[in-house]
Amino acid sequence: MTAEIIDGKAFALDLRERVAALSADFAAKAGRQPGLAVVLVGDDPASQVYVRAKGKATLAAGMLSFEHRLPASASEDEVRALVEQLNADAAVDGILVQLPLPDHIDEHAVITAIDAGKDVDGFTPENVGRLASGLDGFVPCTPLGCLMLLKDRIGDLAGLDAIVIGRSNIVGKPMAALLLGASCTVTIAHSKTRDLPAKVRAADIVVAAVGRPGMIKGDWLKPGATVIDVGINRIAGDEPGTTRLVGDVDFAGAMAHAGAITPVPGGVGPMTIAVLLRNTLVAAHRRAGVALAR
Ligand code: NDP
Repeated sequence: MTAEIIDGKAFALDLRERVAALSADFAAKAGRQPGLAVVLVGDDPASQVYVRAKGKATLAAGMLSFEHRLPASASEDEVRALVEQLNADAAVDGILVQLPLPDHIDEHAVITAIDAGKDVDGFTPENVGRLASGLDGFVPCTPLGCLMLLKDRIGDLAGLDAIVIGRSNIVGKPMAALLLGASCTVTIAHSKTRDLPAKVRAADIVVAAVGRPGMIKGDWLKPGATVIDVGINRIAGDEPGTTRLVGDVDFAGAMAHAGAITPVPGGVGPMTIAVLLRNTLVAAHRRAGVALAR
């Protein structure tokens, strides 16, 4: 068996085009463009790359992009004050605080300060609770992107056995909630899980969000399983001094057992920004009381 490749890059491009069209429709109806504010504290190089990419994608989708940079020495009060200012800004529909924040700042305190109606990352306690309760709210971008890819590939997920490996607040837990919401029977695995291979072997859907290169082996998979690899790990490349990105799943091994798999890069990664734009579009419509055209 050779697994099909799930082309997240193509799916994300298509989603971004649809969002751009709906954003233009919103601007015509509301008389203003949707706006996304990104807050970056400090100078973490990876965060700077993400923030730049988000800014570019926001503009390309016909939205306004507001970038706020604070020095690594900024106090928690200063970051919270900026969030409050963005909460009150009528031009801002979505607020994203780029994580991680410097160690002296309590991430939870900052996230909690974001207006739930502008929380396009879906990290505030209100939106976490809404997802757990099956209520409308904002859902974290990466797991929502994974669900979109799964539904596109499989259709109705009801009754399927799913395993989510990883239980972070950003990926694992919301992913499990989404799969449960889609009526899967969900197992959540983590570092204390016993006999992970046996649990993976029972699953029709495997979502790996661990951060360990190639940890999930091909022969752990149920033949024909659909595999979503969220992991992004930088390892040494074949040529000395080079590096490359790999996922949490041993890709070559999985190709021989899975029915379909997302590659790394080009699978889940591109979905995250596309869903962020989609969430911002939804926030703009809700705030302006404009119906979202289908
Ligand atoms: P975290 O480090 O927050 O969580 C990792 C999880 O993996 C934890 O729940 C941990 O368990 C679990 N884990 C660690 N070791 C094992 C093991 N041996 N067996 C089973 N479970 C284990 O990571 P994130 O959720 O933030 O990210 C996971 C991966 O996804 C990373 O590679 C990250 O780069 C990537 N990522 C990709 C994104 C994208 O856009 N594609 C977005 C976000 C993340 P425990 O809780 O017990 O410690």
